[in-house]
Amino acid sequence: MAVEAVEPKAEVRSFLNGTPKKILIGGQWVEALEGGTFEVLNPADESVLASVQQGGAADIERAVKAARRSFEEGAYRRMSVHERSKLLFKLSDLIETHLDELAQLESLDNGKPYSVAKAADLPLVVEHFRYYAGWADKITGETIPVAPPYDPNGRYLNYTLHEPVGVVGQIIPWNFPLLMAAWKLGAALATGNSLILKPAEQTPLSALRLGELICEAGFPDGVVNIVTGFGDAGAALASHPDVDKVAFTGSTEVGKKIVGASAGNLKRVTLELGGKSPNVIFADADIEAASAAAASAIFFNHGQCCCAGSRMFIEEKVYDEVVDRVADIAKDIKVGPGMAPDTNMGPLVSEEQLERVLGYIQSGIDEGAEPIAGGETQKAGKGYFCKPTVFKKTHNKMTMVREEIFGPVVAALPFSEVGEMEHHANDTHYGLAAGVFTSDVGKAHRTAEALRAGTVWVNCYNMFDAASPFGGYKQSGYGREMGKYALDNYTQVKSVWMKIG
Ligand code: NAP
Ligand code: MG
Repeated sequence: MAVEAVEPKAEVRSFLNGTPKKILIGGQWVEALEGGTFEVLNPADESVLASVQQGGAADIERAVKAARRSFEEGAYRRMSVHERSKLLFKLSDLIETHLDELAQLESLDNGKPYSVAKAADLPLVVEHFRYYAGWADKITGETIPVAPPYDPNGRYLNYTLHEPVGVVGQIIPWNFPLLMAAWKLGAALATGNSLILKPAEQTPLSALRLGELICEAGFPDGVVNIVTGFGDAGAALASHPDVDKVAFTGSTEVGKKIVGASAGNLKRVTLELGGKSPNVIFADADIEAASAAAASAIFFNHGQCCCAGSRMFIEEKVYDEVVDRVADIAKDIKVGPGMAPDTNMGPLVSEEQLERVLGYIQSGIDEGAEPIAGGETQKAGKGYFCKPTVFKKTHNKMTMVREEIFGPVVAALPFSEVGEMEHHANDTHYGLAAGVFTSDVGKAHRTAEALRAGTVWVNCYNMFDAASPFGGYKQSGYGREMGKYALDNYTQVKSVWMKIG
């Protein structure tokens, strides 16, 4: 029996009714200059949730000007660091106050279960802003002992300042709309930059609501500008000559375009791109716990995670047992609307994404893999639902084993030799994350060291904390988000010399 979806809260309804939503430029909510508006769909039933402005190059131009003006005038950049910190704490508190509302908006827009948005996405967002609020008044340079050899009698004081980069463009995807916005904004704001955020076309709503809370918190006009629109708006931001830095999360394909577009003014670029993460399960692991974690590694957020554990490397002795357990978990997952309280997995984000994922399932079948859970290749009824799918009889040359699917589809690959497993696990252009399950501490460390990935989880998966860095090796990108490391992305170092004797 399907359980009725919960009715959205009054605040959510009133936010959605106030459409078309406007974009935020220079502290004002305005309409796009040229593009008109576009509709945002609810992926659970394909109904129209809201309409938003289709910002384009002219709007990016306005937003960059507003950001530049705010940066040069310095109301935020030169604000007392304690005041800056307070603003970020205030924003965190406002998000927490509106947590249920934002979680519902996220569920409606993205498709993820409301319960998950409420328990995972939103608390991470709140903690993220709090973490960077704490950094705002602790960004320090160094005092460096210096003695130029050609001036043996001179005495000098040399110190470094960590200054904001300037105007920052931030382009984010649809899989964790508000959390991705937080990952981008937190470090940029703690360090005193002005920015322009371009949310994904599929999921612009929570970023716009966040914009309202940013205004309410009292950030000076023009420090945060939010322009909804399509890829052309992102491209205009990436190529803009007055943008000093672009931070991008999304596909590797678009990431490469960003790098090309950045060349005009040599803007700094950080990229958080795709993945095809190996999850290694040794026979000496706690098999029940490892199987549950492996299922969650791929099925969390419907597999729409850049770090999804999409390739399970399972030691031969326990292969059948682990695969059967993961398949049983997959079959028990309740797929339904994100707003229904008993839903474990909502719809995929869009029709395009569903078609893409179903295409990969078909390719797996065509290339000889065997689905032992899920495996449907046709859309059934309204909404972009996809059954969690587990494939056996897979090998490293198959398309669905090599390419990022970004859906709830996992390939189970057996191994008997560690060296061979490490070779296959690393045989990918990606290097975002990896998992290792074993009860042998030495083996855990050796495997963590051997896997070429920016994050390795041992006996766990998908663990995140604002304090811990996240980012890719190889074509999964460069730069690190979160932790102290992310501050480097948003600051530049000035070395000051002073003659003191
Ligand atoms: P995408 O095209 O890379 O989109 C990410 C962001 O970049 C969106 O805001 C997008 O705007 C914008 N964009 C698109 N073209 C651009 C351009 N030429 N210059 C600057 N910005 C541009 O990702 P997608 O189409 O949503 O998803 C495609 C695949 O990417 C997925 O199936 C998945 O494999 C991968 N992906 C990875 C991540 C991740 O977290 N690493 C997240 C999402 C997707 P629009 O929304 O208007 O296109
Ligand atoms: Mg796209």
